[in-house]
Amino acid sequence: MTKQHYQPFPTQTPPELKGAPARVYPVAIIGGGPIGLAAAVDLAQHGVEVIVLDQNNTVSVGSRAICWAKRTLDIFDRLGVGERMVRKGVTWQTGRLFHAQQEVFNFDLLPDTDYKMPAFVNLQQYHVEQYLVDRAGDFPDLIDLRFNNTVTDHVTSDTGVSLQISTPEGDYSLQAEYVIACDGANSPTRKRMGLSFEGESFEERFLIADIEMEDDPFANADNAERWFWFKPPFHEGQSALLHKQPDNIYRIDLQLGADTNPEEESRHENVTPRIQQIMGDKSFQLDWVSVYRFRCARLAQFVHGRLLFAGDSAHVVSPFGARGGNGGTHDVDNLCWKLAAVIQGRAPASLLDSYEQERGHGADENIRHSARATRFMSPANDMERLFRDEILSLAADLPFARAWINSGRLSTPCSLIDMPLQTSDTSDTLADDSRCGLVAPDLPLDNGDWLLASLSRNSFTLLLVGVNQTSIIDSSNLLDALPVVTISLTEHAQRRYGRGAFLIRPDQHIAARWEGTDLNASLVRLAWDRALGLADKAHAA
Ligand SMILES: Cc1cc2nc3c(=O)[nH]c(=O)nc-3n(C[C@H](O)[C@H](O)[C@H](O)COP(=O)(O)OP(=O)(O)OC[C@H]3O[C@@H](n4cnc5c(N)ncnc54)[C@H](O)[C@@H]3O)c2cc1C
Repeated sequence: MTKQHYQPFPTQTPPELKGAPARVYPVAIIGGGPIGLAAAVDLAQHGVEVIVLDQNNTVSVGSRAICWAKRTLDIFDRLGVGERMVRKGVTWQTGRLFHAQQEVFNFDLLPDTDYKMPAFVNLQQYHVEQYLVDRAGDFPDLIDLRFNNTVTDHVTSDTGVSLQISTPEGDYSLQAEYVIACDGANSPTRKRMGLSFEGESFEERFLIADIEMEDDPFANADNAERWFWFKPPFHEGQSALLHKQPDNIYRIDLQLGADTNPEEESRHENVTPRIQQIMGDKSFQLDWVSVYRFRCARLAQFVHGRLLFAGDSAHVVSPFGARGGNGGTHDVDNLCWKLAAVIQGRAPASLLDSYEQERGHGADENIRHSARATRFMSPANDMERLFRDEILSLAADLPFARAWINSGRLSTPCSLIDMPLQTSDTSDTLADDSRCGLVAPDLPLDNGDWLLASLSRNSFTLLLVGVNQTSIIDSSNLLDALPVVTISLTEHAQRRYGRGAFLIRPDQHIAARWEGTDLNASLVRLAWDRALGLADKAHAA
């Protein structure tokens, strides 16, 4: 059991079991893990009432996700928990890769400075879930968290989804216009629907040991880093990974091979000597031990009429690259504004198909990177092993070989360039970092605030960089519905955007952009319609 004290969440008798009249909820979420909780907060920020049903009554038990990437932190900041995560978490941006005893190379994940959020924060998943539960409490009229509520069955129709729910106090049913299945890697919803989860399973087993230790195992105690070893002297022939977490907890991940016995390997008396090999005579306590295997797989479709899948229920990857929880958070970011727009009648239901398209693309990217890293770590045959070992021995001296080394390509924002919701981009003077489809880059503002934090949390924003709003937009009723943020052309703004106007989606992706003098209200309207899935309207105009 971890150092974390798992305080049970309060539970209440559901109104349906107290004789309340039947009603239809706009959205029900199955699963209150990080993804279900994040989706609830996001929908509430968009003004959508949501009910979350979880079979347990605590945050997730045990040690799971710890690494949260910059883009995810930006999303969590939009959801109101990002600053808290950074305050509690361990910030890092340097990774070092060792082959045997030699450092082969190191990398800096955020060489450019002046972003609100760091490259990575390490923070136990149970803290993230607790922060999201706390944040949900800010929306008492919109979020109804129901713990100890297990969804046992569902029926979909053209108008909604009916759920069967079991609680310690009795069973009841509930209707929702839309349901998001965030019920994890073994998703009962997915299984009930008989959906196949296509992908690749890996035979290799890994040991996770979280240890509590006063001494810092990193050479430079001021800066936490990610250290990865191939064939370290302390773990013959395999790989190892070391991360720092808050509260003097360190995550050690050891490759065990395919033919190991998970029960034997998890015994503390067998784990302790393995850790002593790494930490020498430093004193430590085991906080959590587990042995796992993984697969890289996804649903062919995330959207099934009014039932949508997000997070691990939709796709799973290996932990190397930290793309599971991060990828699921990107699903939430992409889905919730669209679902809100559909429910509130601002967009057609077909807008949800773009969730499928955009996040399916994200899932493929995550699976590709994750599977490659796994194959590099555990070569499938002698040829692959020979190639891998040659690359490792060349990498210290020959930079070309380093590009082949793969210990997990860490989670990055997913590009939506050239996807249908974005207006095609013809500018050759605006910055590359602000191309349509990319996430809007953050930057510090003159007033001490940050750009991303200044954008609307629940609607599109028109960002004007170094251009005067009144001289280029001639339709005041457009601006009534579209928040405008105007910033000056500072050195950062010039480098990350350029002088121009940018239509930014609620998930902070750039939907359209125009050079300084190219803008008028009808172009903005057209791009906005396109981004809301009203492409027909956009074409007709
Ligand atoms: C060892 C390990 C290390 C990892 N490290 C990282 C990392 O560093 N970074 C990263 O981004 N990701 C990491 N991950 C992945 C990350 O933990 C998952 O991607 C994340 O938990 C997915 O969240 P989720 O909400 O989709 O699913 P889950 O966290 O699995 O939550 C599912 C929820 O659904 C509920 N539920 C299930 N069935 C029902 C039902 N019938 N009725 C009601 N409720 C139900 C469960 O109680 C649970 O609360 C790691 C995973 C592991 C195992």
